[in-house]
Amino acid sequence: SITPKPSNEPVLAYSPGTSEREAVIQELKRQKSEITQIPMVIDGDKIFTDTKDKVVCPHDHQQVIAEVSQGTADHAKSAIDAALKARKEWAALPWEARAAVFLKAADLLATKYRAEMNAATMLGQSKTVHQAEIDAACELIDFFRFNVHYAEQIYSEQPGSAFGMWNRSEIRGLEGFVYAITPFNFTSIAVNLPAAPALMGCAVIWKPAPTSMHGAYLGLRILEEAGLPKGVINMISGDPQELSSVLLPHPELSGIHFTGSTATFNHLWQEVGKNINNYRYYPRIVGETGGKDFVFAHSSADAQELCTALVRGAFEFQGQKCSAASRAYVPKSLWSKLKPALVETVKSIKMGDVEDFHNFMSAVIDKRSFDKIASYIDHAKQAKDAEIVVGGEYDDSKGYFIRPTIIEASNPHYKSMVEEIFGPVLTIYVYEDEAFEETLAICDSSTKYALTGAIFAKDRHVIDHMAKTLVHAAGNFYINDKPTGAVVGQQPFGGGRASGTNDKAGSMLNLLRWASFRTVKENF
Ligand code: GLU
Repeated sequence: SITPKPSNEPVLAYSPGTSEREAVIQELKRQKSEITQIPMVIDGDKIFTDTKDKVVCPHDHQQVIAEVSQGTADHAKSAIDAALKARKEWAALPWEARAAVFLKAADLLATKYRAEMNAATMLGQSKTVHQAEIDAACELIDFFRFNVHYAEQIYSEQPGSAFGMWNRSEIRGLEGFVYAITPFNFTSIAVNLPAAPALMGCAVIWKPAPTSMHGAYLGLRILEEAGLPKGVINMISGDPQELSSVLLPHPELSGIHFTGSTATFNHLWQEVGKNINNYRYYPRIVGETGGKDFVFAHSSADAQELCTALVRGAFEFQGQKCSAASRAYVPKSLWSKLKPALVETVKSIKMGDVEDFHNFMSAVIDKRSFDKIASYIDHAKQAKDAEIVVGGEYDDSKGYFIRPTIIEASNPHYKSMVEEIFGPVLTIYVYEDEAFEETLAICDSSTKYALTGAIFAKDRHVIDHMAKTLVHAAGNFYINDKPTGAVVGQQPFGGGRASGTNDKAGSMLNLLRWASFRTVKENF
């Protein structure tokens, strides 16, 4: 191996009195005292326009922290020109030269920009300092470093040769441009989606979610400081439909790298389908989409372990994870122990401003999310087949706060047992112990998704049976653990069915989608 063997970036604790804590506190103060002007970045130029989109703190929606310059169809066109112009030289570099940019970016983020990045993610996406550290610092650093490690394996794999010839694989980045459309909920995913194809030699147009711009823009600036040549990643903002109307039908579109809702991903496929006769390439379409992630407990499970997994799985990160535990199946024999433990734990959860480091949760991302989540809570308050076990309060007077909520449903097909909510709401169906088999079958078939899932049991035969029955129900499957918190390099992340193409972010599988092989045979 010629690249450094990566290990996961250690997660800092931010305990009182530590230098990392002081640095973040200073950064929070600084970033709140100014309104950051965020441009588009096209061909390395910062483009400011007169139309601005305001970025507010979700936990304090009167606090404006940034203004994002909005672009039009013309900006999308110039971004494509810039990408096509930059691509050839970038792709022609030895892969190690490209890798060096990302390794350097990882080091810059780990040291010089850690506090700034965490503060940006705390203010922009209402993450607690611990959530920001895990996402915007550690996971992004890991993506940069592990991608390089996996790329090295791809570049070093060669076919066999016989006497009188030499066969080899040349690995070329895709021609044209890759369109990266990225979500608000993880800064690491937002930056990795353009970064992974770029490492493999592609040129990228990147449209981050408007609510993630604070961290996303810093991610791009770090890559630039690390030596990313201009035009390789071009960042644009504006009305998604207007931008997409230029980008999606363009003959040079060669890939889409997406994380977001199933509905948007379906729309992207449809647009590609409509334009299929116009392209020079078959666009590679890679997406991680929705989830309705389950926790299924057998009667042999430990109630206390289950309680911890449900609370952490459902409510960490405000439940705004594709992987969040959002439906659970619990046997009646466990419920009498589990229920009081859940109620007590959930009631003790502290939530509020990200600047109070004692808080375990903060606000959900915006008004639209808040209203959607609240509508599910309201539905449960009135439904015949559901009742609120704990939580159910919400208040958006200062920020978009929703108390962690557990609903008990008497019907395994109840609305919030099968629909994705993307917020701190967990619905539990309590099954008769004798109905274990049929409930397991319902867990497998009652939603269209298959992102993550967890089972809890002690008996080895039962574990094996559950794992086999649910073989396609999750792309990330956890045994006696919560269904969240995949670590780059340890649990490659992604799901199937309506949850995406399962090209595992931060893995070799994902990087291969951005590579096009030329097989060369030379005779002697
Ligand atoms: N990778 C994260 C996890 O395992 C979730 C990412 C997402 O929400 O898209 O919890």
